[in-house]
Amino acid sequence: MSKLLAVGTVAFDAIETPFGKTDKILGGSATFVGLAASHFGIETGLVSVVGDDMPNAYLTMLNERNIDTSGVEIVQGGKTFFWSGRYHNDMNSRDTLVTELNTLADFSPVVPESFKDAPVVMLGNLHPLTQSSVLDQLSEKPKMVILDTMNFWMDSALEDLKNVIKRIDVITINDEEARQLSGEYSLVNAAKKIHEMGPKYVVIKKGEHGALLFNEGNMFFAPALPLAEVFDPTGAGDTFAGGFAGYIAKTEDISFENMKNAVIYGSNLASFCVERFGTERMQSLTIEEVHQRLKSFKELTQFEIKLN
Ligand code: AMP
Repeated sequence: MSKLLAVGTVAFDAIETPFGKTDKILGGSATFVGLAASHFGIETGLVSVVGDDMPNAYLTMLNERNIDTSGVEIVQGGKTFFWSGRYHNDMNSRDTLVTELNTLADFSPVVPESFKDAPVVMLGNLHPLTQSSVLDQLSEKPKMVILDTMNFWMDSALEDLKNVIKRIDVITINDEEARQLSGEYSLVNAAKKIHEMGPKYVVIKKGEHGALLFNEGNMFFAPALPLAEVFDPTGAGDTFAGGFAGYIAKTEDISFENMKNAVIYGSNLASFCVERFGTERMQSLTIEEVHQRLKSFKELTQFEIKLN
């Protein structure tokens, strides 16, 4: 069975959308990555940290989906990372209300022995030094390292972020963050600048407007499936990244052609994530539903046109 190593947060989130509000529910970048990757018949190892306030039932739920949590440190007496956000009416933009690092503040990740040779590594949204430290512990050079990040780390640890970006193959970030990181408004120019920082592949997520894949002059676009109702976009970016990484881990094919499919799988899974609050929809999602919606994706994007 192929392996995916994923580092990121396992968190509590409190979310406000125009449709309602939640108390502290399960969230975190690694949680969403793991749940998305669980649809590819691979073994995903999470590296993260939580406090002893994290209910055991949440970790068990992940284990039941073939997600190994032996790399999730539980700090006795510690508090789990907490994030709270409020979405605007367009559901595409949000304000972060609270970020409490808690146990994440002094986290030193330890990669379990059994995942040190994972062929695909997903550096989920976390402090760039923590992401680097995971790379330092690997026993073999992975076929592909994918990194996800956000404006929080660009504002607070830009130099560390630039250093880890030099060491990766694929970066997945949203359009606003690509502009912030590159200083370029045009996404084509932003991708070019980001290529120059290291990664051969740049994936720019545009929320309900789909995702763009750039690779040294090549470009591919995948739409997001138009949905009648978007309930809560939290985790959609991580779910996209988890779907992308999971598909690459399953196929171990890092050609541009195969990466296009990875973008489609990522978009497909993200379209489910937004249908309910937090991880709720990803917990109930079946592989039949995943395949059914892939058909809709194909129909949405396929056309026959005669070029003279
Ligand atoms: P997304 O909507 O894909 O950007 O991801 C939202 C998830 O990221 C939430 O579940 C949060 O717990 C987590 N998150 C929010 N801020 C951070 C941060 N600064 N570092 C790591 N994870 C974060």
